[in-house]
Parts: sequence; structure tokens; C-alpha cells
Amino acid sequence: MMFRIGYGWDSHEFKRGLPLKLGGITLPYSKGLAGHSDGDVLLHALTDALLGAIAAGDIGDFFPPSEKKWKGADSIVFVREAMRQVQRAGFTVANMDCTLILQEPKIGPHAKAIQSRVAELLKLSPSAVGIKAKTPEGMGTEKAVIAHVVVLLTKSGSEKQVLAETAEAVPQPVIDDVVEEVLKSVPEPVTRPGRKPTGKK
Ligand code: MG
Repeated sequence: MMFRIGYGWDSHEFKRGLPLKLGGITLPYSKGLAGHSDGDVLLHALTDALLGAIAAGDIGDFFPPSEKKWKGADSIVFVREAMRQVQRAGFTVANMDCTLILQEPKIGPHAKAIQSRVAELLKLSPSAVGIKAKTPEGMGTEKAVIAHVVVLLTKSGSEKQVLAETAEAVPQPVIDDVVEEVLKSVPEPVTRPGRKPTGKK
């Protein structure tokens, strides 16, 4: 059995006049989270955790904020794509745990709804989804919501198979960067000082 751990972190700032989306649920509150998409900080951190577990880059590689089509996007789309990459690499999610850090609103009354929604997105039982929240004591981050997420992925098979399949999940821009780096590191042909080349004519 192969295991992969994934970790993701994100933060978004509160802004009046927006719906508050957390974990795919809309919470009743006077402010929402600003962002290029719907600002769902928990689903963004979850997307990064899933992609990170298979070394497939991050949310920005798949959904660049420079692309207009992701403006106001439902962040569920990001998690679905990350799950597609995870499945393509042959892994399944074993469990997910998270901590939200926010002054308000209280997460307790909504934790079950968030848990069910996230469990559905990850094809998990709610008992494998941990939803926790803390207030930012002494952090000075009252104007924002922060999310930390970890996931554990499992797969049966050999390490060699795992490496071959996870390589496929790397987005093209990342591969291009790697190729460029490799080409840069190829040494120039060296001619030794004081000796003329003695190649045949
Ligand atoms: Mg974000």
C-alpha cells in the first residue's frame, strides 16, 4: 500500500456585500470572502492539499487568477479537478482534516453541513472528514479567514507504478519549466586551454 500526505493553506479577507462560502456551504453572515473566485478559503486549501499529495503543483497552476473565466467561479470546480487528478494518479482519499481560523461567525452550528458537503466532494464518509475552528487569539487576523487542510491518499501497488502515474498529473506549464531548468544545467562543450582540438579533418 502506498500513502501520500497532502497539505494546503489559504486565507481570504472579509468584504461586505458578498455571500460567505465555506466548504461549499453558504453561511448566514453580514460579510463574505473577497477573492477572484467565490473566496471559499476551505475549498482552496483542500484543492492545494489534494494536488500537493500527488506533487501536481497548486491551484494557481490549474486555475490561474489571470484567467477571466475563473472570476466568481464556484470553488467546487477546483476540488473536482483536483479529485480528477488524484484519481488519474490512481489514488483514493482516506481522510481529510482541517482547521479554520476566524473570529466570526461561529462554525459550530454549520460544522455538520460543511462536513457532509466536503465528504461528498471527496467521496468519503463524514466520519473521515474533520472540521474544526479556532479564533485567532493574538494573531491580529480578525479581518480574514484562514484554512489549514491535510489529506491522506492511499493506493495499492508498487512505488515504481506510483511514480510513473503521478508524473502524468503534473500540469504542462510545470513540465515546461522543468525542461527549461534541465536545458540550462546542460554544460557547454569545454575546450581545454593550451591545447588545440586534434580532430580529424
Ligand atoms: Mg484562495
